[in-house]
Amino acid sequence: MKGMGQFNMSLRIAVIGGGLGGATASVALQRAGFDVHVYEQASDIQRVGAGIQLQANTMRVLAALGLDTPIRDAGVPISRWQSRVWDTGKIIFEPEGLSDWVVVHRADLLNVLLRALKPGTFHSRKRLEGLDQKSDSVSLKFADGTSADADIVIGADGINSRVREILLGPESPQYSGYIAYLSIFSSSLVRGHHVALDQSTKWWSDKRHWDPEHTRYFLTYPLSQDSDEIYFVTGAPQADWNGGTHPVNVANDEVRACYAGFHPEVLALIDAAPAITKWPVFVRKPLPVWSDGHAVLLGDACHPMSPYMGQGAGMAFEDAAILTRCLQAHPTDPSFAFEMYRKNRIDRTSLIQKVSSDHTWLAYPQETEWALGFDAGVCELRE
Ligand SMILES: Cc1cc2nc3c(=O)[nH]c(=O)nc-3n(C[C@H](O)[C@H](O)[C@H](O)COP(=O)(O)OP(=O)(O)OC[C@H]3O[C@@H](n4cnc5c(N)ncnc54)[C@H](O)[C@@H]3O)c2cc1C
Repeated sequence: MKGMGQFNMSLRIAVIGGGLGGATASVALQRAGFDVHVYEQASDIQRVGAGIQLQANTMRVLAALGLDTPIRDAGVPISRWQSRVWDTGKIIFEPEGLSDWVVVHRADLLNVLLRALKPGTFHSRKRLEGLDQKSDSVSLKFADGTSADADIVIGADGINSRVREILLGPESPQYSGYIAYLSIFSSSLVRGHHVALDQSTKWWSDKRHWDPEHTRYFLTYPLSQDSDEIYFVTGAPQADWNGGTHPVNVANDEVRACYAGFHPEVLALIDAAPAITKWPVFVRKPLPVWSDGHAVLLGDACHPMSPYMGQGAGMAFEDAAILTRCLQAHPTDPSFAFEMYRKNRIDRTSLIQKVSSDHTWLAYPQETEWALGFDAGVCELRE
């Protein structure tokens, strides 16, 4: 570890990446009194992409920041979650007493988070290229030729994290062998089936993970209360992926062929989709090292996971709450705070990474409290 100077609550924190984890960490740290600036490579938020499920453990972090109401307003609090058999539609599992489970468009969620930042602290078009650690500060270099200084830096720059690469050396994430088809569209386009606009349904193929040839799932939920937008995201095997990390557009026929024999409700959704994209799913093994000197990692930069549990952003949000608590407890010794944060996070994030890739979450009647009952704002922290 490099040397650490002494700091106080006026610690200047640079957060690299204004995605879901970086924005949440920045709001939490600003509320705790730190001097935080966010540097994001994108120029603006486009309303493209995906839906996000915010389960009870995730909503608890957002509620502690006073953001639960605007997020419920931007999304849909769902009243029912069902696992169903792929062809017959038989209900396999429906968790009881589902509380505080919100689904929302990723861009609408990000807008709520970014609006909660102090004015003038979000800097777009700032792609981090270099990071130079000095004895008591860190100097950041951006692709546009500008630079910034901070006392500590948080790498919340996603699965292809530049901060991670600088700290730990280059190592590409691994293609998992699975792809996801995604689409967002008006439910009025669906012919012959009623679409419930307050429910999430996951259709599971019978052999699931034990036989990759047959492993498929199809998850659908609404995205906003103001519109009749619905969303589907799927998981299916595909041996190779040669297209980089970006999604590609695909024809409905490809998706229909992949889901041949599924329940007519699933096929009606595929037929209704005006545009479908295919996304590669990348993963990494748990990292042994989460920080070095003045820099620490958070969210997908640190522990990206398969999306089968809908908890990737949830883990980034919990990271944000716990890193804030560790820095509040030890504002004059960030390296201690970073190690305390790692110690208090690694078991839970590694377990969720594993359960996610095992693809067993809600696949059959099971206990959910271990995942959903966690409260990052009040859980006991080990020093
Ligand atoms: C198909 C799919 C479905 C998912 N569904 C769910 C779900 O339902 N619920 C859930 O909790 N999670 C879900 N996830 C996971 C979730 O999207 C991620 O875990 C979450 O977005 C991680 O947040 P993050 O802030 O770490 O990274 P990101 O959200 O990826 O943000 C990283 C940010 O860093 C910026 N950036 C990157 N490099 C640089 C740089 N050099 N300089 C400056 N900025 C940079 C990027 O532009 C981006 O804005 C899903 C993922 C996938 C693929």
